[in-house]
Amino acid sequence: MKERILQEIKSRVNRKSWELWFGTFNVKSVEGNHVVFSVGNLFIKEWLEKKYQSVISKAVKSVLGNSATYEITYESFDTAAVNQEPLVKKRAILLTPLNPNYTFENFVVGPGNSFAYHSALEVAKNPGKYNPLFIYGGVGLGKTHLLQSIGNHIVQNEPDLRVLYITSEKFLNDLIDYMKEGRISEFRERYRKRVDVLLLDDVQFLIGKTGVQTELFHTFNELYDAGKQIVICSDREPQKLEEFQDRLVSRFQMGLVVRIDPPDEQTRRNIAKKMLEMENGYLPEEVLNFVATNVDDNLRRLRGAIIKLLVYRETTGKEISVKEAAELLKDFIREPSPAISLDPFERLFEALQRVFGVSKEELLSNSRKSVAVMARKVGMYVAKKYMDCSLRTVAERFGRSHPLVASSVKDVEESILKGNKLLKSYIDDVLENLSRKAISG
Ligand code: ADP
Ligand code: MG
Repeated sequence: MKERILQEIKSRVNRKSWELWFGTFNVKSVEGNHVVFSVGNLFIKEWLEKKYQSVISKAVKSVLGNSATYEITYESFDTAAVNQEPLVKKRAILLTPLNPNYTFENFVVGPGNSFAYHSALEVAKNPGKYNPLFIYGGVGLGKTHLLQSIGNHIVQNEPDLRVLYITSEKFLNDLIDYMKEGRISEFRERYRKRVDVLLLDDVQFLIGKTGVQTELFHTFNELYDAGKQIVICSDREPQKLEEFQDRLVSRFQMGLVVRIDPPDEQTRRNIAKKMLEMENGYLPEEVLNFVATNVDDNLRRLRGAIIKLLVYRETTGKEISVKEAAELLKDFIREPSPAISLDPFERLFEALQRVFGVSKEELLSNSRKSVAVMARKVGMYVAKKYMDCSLRTVAERFGRSHPLVASSVKDVEESILKGNKLLKSYIDDVLENLSRKAISG
C-alpha cells in the first residue's frame, strides 16, 4: 500500500522534481483512508504543501478513494538519529530552488571579478575553507550569480550537504512570520540545525533592523561553530554596514572578504556574448559590441538590453542595425561621459564653465563682461591657492601678465576677508566641481 501510494505520486511528477523534492519523502502510516507522510526537512514539507498539494491529493485519492485525506509531517530534530546523520544519502538537498543558469561555467571571469570568482569556486569545492566568505560589490555585478553558483556546484557534487540560499529580506520575513505564529523554535531549527551551507544574499537589507540582526548573529554562531559554510553577499563592505551590530560586522570579517569591481570593456563584451548564448539568440557582432560598450556597468541592464533586442528581432523578423539598436536602447544607454582631462587647468576651465557658464575661450579672451571677469579671477585664485601653481604658471595658462594675476588673487582674498559670501560660495562650487571630477575620473 505504502509503495503504491508513492508510485502513484511518482508517476505524476517529472523525474527531476521527484529527485529534488521527494528524496526524503515517505509514507509513515496509513490509517483508514488517512495517509501520514513524513519528510526529513521543514522546507521541503512547506514546499510540497505549497506546490504539490493537488498532485499528492489526487494520488492519494486514486489509491484510497475519493474521501482519502493526508498530512505531511517532518522529523523533529531532537529525534536522536537526525543530528548524527545527514538527512539523505547520495542526494543533495536543495532547501530553496536555485537558478540553474547561475553556474561557474556561465560566469565570465575578468579582472574585476576574478578574485571573487576563484574564492567562490574554492569554497564550493571545499565548503568550510574560507568561513565566512563575504562578497561585496555594486548592483548587477554578479554577486547573486556567484552565490548561487556555489549552491549549484555543491548540490551537484556533495550529495550529503544541505544547501540553503536565502535573501536577507526573506530571512527577515520568515522570522516575523514564525514569531507571529509563536513558532520561533521551528524557525531556529530550520536555520540553525538543518543547514550545511548557508548562502545569504543582500545582507545590507538588514541595516538598522536590530532584532533580526540578533537572530542572524546567533544563527551565524551556531552554524559557524558546527563548521558549516556561510557565504554572504552585500552591496558594501562589512565595515560600511552602518547601524549593524559590531559583533556581527566582526563575524563577517573573520573569514575572507572579496570585492567585485565593475567589468572592463572586454569583459563586458565577453559577458554580452555569454548572455546571448544563454538566450540561444543571435545578434550581429557589431550590434552586440555596441550594446556591451554603451549599456552601463549594471549587468542586469546589459542582459535586459540584449533581451529587448532579441524580442524585437523575433517579432519583426528583421536583422537589427547598430542605428536601430541605439534607438531601441535609448533608456539603457549610459550617460555620455566625456573623456576626463588629466590636465588640471583643463579641469579647472571645465569647472569654471559649469559654475559660471563661461567658456574657456571667453575666459582666455579679453571679454570685460562682469561674469567673465569674475570667473577669471576665481579661476586664478583657485589655481594659485588650491592647485599649488606658481604665479608664473597661472599667468601662462590664463594668458595674462604676471602682475595682473597677482592683483587678481589679492582682490579675491580681500573680498573674502570683507565677507563677500557670494564670491566665497562660487569658490566652493568650483572646488567641489573639481573634486567631484577627480573622484569620478
Ligand atoms: P548582483 O547580485 O551583484 O546585483 P547578479 O548576480 O544578479 O548581480 O547579476 C546580474 C545579471 O548579470 C545576471 O543575469 C547574471 O547572470 C549576469 N552576470 C553578472 N556577472 C556575470 C559574469 N561575470 N558572467 C556572466 N553573467 C554575469
Ligand atoms: Mg543580487
